[in-house]
Amino acid sequence: MPYEGEYAHYQPLKRIVESERVQQLLRRSRPLDPSAVMERATPKAPPAAGSTLPFLVLAIDGSHAEVDVRNGYPGAKVGYCSVASVILNLAEVERLDVDRPVNPIDFRRTEDPSSDACALPGCNVITRDHVSAKDSFREALFDLLHDAIVDEEDNTRLLATYQALLAHKPAGTIACPYTHLDCDREVSIGANLGTCPCERRKPLFPTDALRIHERFNDDSGSNGEAFGLVMTIWERLLMIHLLRCFEQRNWLDRLNTIAFFLDGPLAIFGPPAWLSAAISRELQRLNTAIRARTGSDLIIVGIEKSGNFVAHFEEIDKREDGSPHFQPGSYFLPTDSYIKERIIFSDSTKQYGADTYFGRKFFYKTKSGARIVANVPFLTPEQDSLASEDPSAFPQFGTVCALLDKLVTSRFPNALGPIVSAHAQASIPLHLGQKVLKQLAQALMRQRGQ
Ligand SMILES: [Zn+2]
Repeated sequence: MPYEGEYAHYQPLKRIVESERVQQLLRRSRPLDPSAVMERATPKAPPAAGSTLPFLVLAIDGSHAEVDVRNGYPGAKVGYCSVASVILNLAEVERLDVDRPVNPIDFRRTEDPSSDACALPGCNVITRDHVSAKDSFREALFDLLHDAIVDEEDNTRLLATYQALLAHKPAGTIACPYTHLDCDREVSIGANLGTCPCERRKPLFPTDALRIHERFNDDSGSNGEAFGLVMTIWERLLMIHLLRCFEQRNWLDRLNTIAFFLDGPLAIFGPPAWLSAAISRELQRLNTAIRARTGSDLIIVGIEKSGNFVAHFEEIDKREDGSPHFQPGSYFLPTDSYIKERIIFSDSTKQYGADTYFGRKFFYKTKSGARIVANVPFLTPEQDSLASEDPSAFPQFGTVCALLDKLVTSRFPNALGPIVSAHAQASIPLHLGQKVLKQLAQALMRQRGQ
């Protein structure tokens, strides 16, 4: 958000938009025909929630920033990424809810935060025996997953979860990351450290398969995109990692008491998009085991705070007479044809987001009137479709809407309490500690003891 007085900078932009060249381009572009009969969003009341809502919410949210550093080279930068998780005890929130407004200090007590952070080389920051910042960045990304032990007790590394997902990647090669050393080979990336077969025998990291380094600029400016990709992947890996830890500890039958909330769409964009299909496969495998034990599906929700879907929801919720189109407590599940006609123009026959999404978007207006753009994951092959406006393929849909009603914070319109908290944690660099599994275990035990 710009500061006061900063709008002055937008004046020249306005002149550019009005310029003849921009206007010519717009005249050549395909306009949205205002008289065309368009698909319309039909808001409906969601199906009833399950008989018991999960009592724990685990929200995962990261942040990233790029800072200038002094190391003698001009323009040297370092990326700072952090991922936080907050465990929110809904039973406690409900108890406090009885006498609203909730005292923020009491509300804090219902949350149990934990976060982790890492620094990544940016432009002109070269570590150890590397010859470029890009190679330093590649090694730091590998170290991040290798060193991230989510729980001190079982010593499982995030890398192990990444390797399990990498095993789902279709076989193939990538351009050797050492093109700057004139290597023009295609190399295959394995689950462990390897070397390029050329005579330099340079190291290849399993994380090179993510190809985030292809979006890394050695010599100019910002690497915000690369750091953003690292953060998104870290958040999503952490969620899968926690689910796998539950499986290893034989706790899958407890998962119907926990809802997972992720920041952003259930998707991975750019060079590492292959991870999306791998995550989907792993979620389907885990969900099959969970259904067999509990009879219900996992609850995972992605929350979008910005983007075209958020803007579109806002737009269609305004009728010409100023009244809202969505009644409180109503949802709309956009289909593939609706998305391509109204939100992201496309003539393609391929399902919207087929290569990037592992979940489906929907609009929900909470009972308190907040507009939420949320995603629910594809946990079965039949859920992986955007054909129908009907959510009956998603048995937890009603429960998710009921959770959204509970979690919307009055402090931040259209945002969710735990996501806001996780974001606040991720923004505090020194709040370290990787105790999320231990905290979850304790919260579950407390509930059992009651
Ligand atoms: Zn090579």
